Amino acid sequence: MKRRRTQRMNIVRVGLLLSLAICIRGVSLAQTGYVNPWAIKDVGTLPPVASLTDGVWLKGDLHVHSRHSKESSNHPISKITAFAKSVGIDYLCITDHDNHVNGDVAHNTWADPEFKSSPVLLLYGAEWTTTRGHGNTFSAKPYDHQRLYDVRDQRDATVGAVKKELGIHLSANHPSGKDHFGYSYDMIESIEVWNSAIWSKNANAIMIWDDMLSSGRKLTGRGGSDVHHGTPDTPEQATKNTPQAKANYIGTPTTWVFATARTSQAIIDALTNGRVSVSANPYAPRVEFYADLNQDGKMDMMMGDNAKAAGKLVTFRVQLSGSAADGEYTVNVVKNGGTFGTYQISGKTPFVEFTDTPAALGRTYYRVVVEGTPTAYPQVPESMALSEHMVGLSNPICFNFDPNF
Ligand SMILES: [Zn+2]
Ligand SMILES: [Zn+2]
Repeated sequence: MKRRRTQRMNIVRVGLLLSLAICIRGVSLAQTGYVNPWAIKDVGTLPPVASLTDGVWLKGDLHVHSRHSKESSNHPISKITAFAKSVGIDYLCITDHDNHVNGDVAHNTWADPEFKSSPVLLLYGAEWTTTRGHGNTFSAKPYDHQRLYDVRDQRDATVGAVKKELGIHLSANHPSGKDHFGYSYDMIESIEVWNSAIWSKNANAIMIWDDMLSSGRKLTGRGGSDVHHGTPDTPEQATKNTPQAKANYIGTPTTWVFATARTSQAIIDALTNGRVSVSANPYAPRVEFYADLNQDGKMDMMMGDNAKAAGKLVTFRVQLSGSAADGEYTVNVVKNGGTFGTYQISGKTPFVEFTDTPAALGRTYYRVVVEGTPTAYPQVPESMALSEHMVGLSNPICFNFDPNF
């Protein structure tokens, strides 16, 4: 009896050791019949990529405060839009703090006669300013912002449902540090990866962006100056914040979108799908990033696009556009959050091509960061030093991202 029990205990022990060994080798799932429903699988057929030529590059600033934000100074809407026009900016979103007007943006910023007579395209939006952080809203037409303001402290499921009903684009602002975006990233379309002329502040925002992209969240990276203060008309109107206007102002940084038309809706669509790059200022070169999928020398997709990986070699092309692109530049390519390669380019129309084979199964993304010769912005002369050598950054070219994620 005693011996049999010892035998049985030995059998149990051996069994335990065996299953432990099997678990360590990761085979225990097969043993139990468990199948991970979220395991990487073929993404299926993806929607075709939109035209690479049928559109227009438009530049703008997506984070601007006017006099309707109570802490701003010398910043009526007419001054903002006149300046924007003078430096060639095509569109703006004036994103005043909604909490300064208890959510009633519609009867403040949007009702301002200067808003209605703007010489540049103005998106409808606001800075959703909540205890859990800040986000910008973007819309081509007026929407009921009051509802988003009123729901701000509710659970994310409730907030997300209201946001969806409003049909707006929601974007996380300065997502790290004070007033970080404390909501689920599942309810947003884009993230402010470059806030203000001070480039060095954005390292954590870039890290969060890479984490979201790596987890399958195809969020667009965008810029925003977060400017609050204008140049006073008379010396007596100067405030302690007036010097900021020479260091961080409209266009530091500038967000470029490849829009199908010169309309607010096309700008928002481009923002949502990621055909976007960000440059240090309105005169700095624009970063363009393309891929040739079948080695025929013709580009098939651009940043923001998503294609199925065929397990074949892809040629990528990075180019700098604009009259200012005449210096020495370093192109840093990021693949899936890590460094892929670094290339030196120069000349009048600097470009570089490189190749890689994105994995046939599972997601891959590539994005580029360009550093080098700063471009002068005479209207905001101190911004150059704050942006250091940062020239511009692209959105990712994606493979095998699930469009229904
Ligand atoms: Zn903010
Ligand atoms: Zn702001």
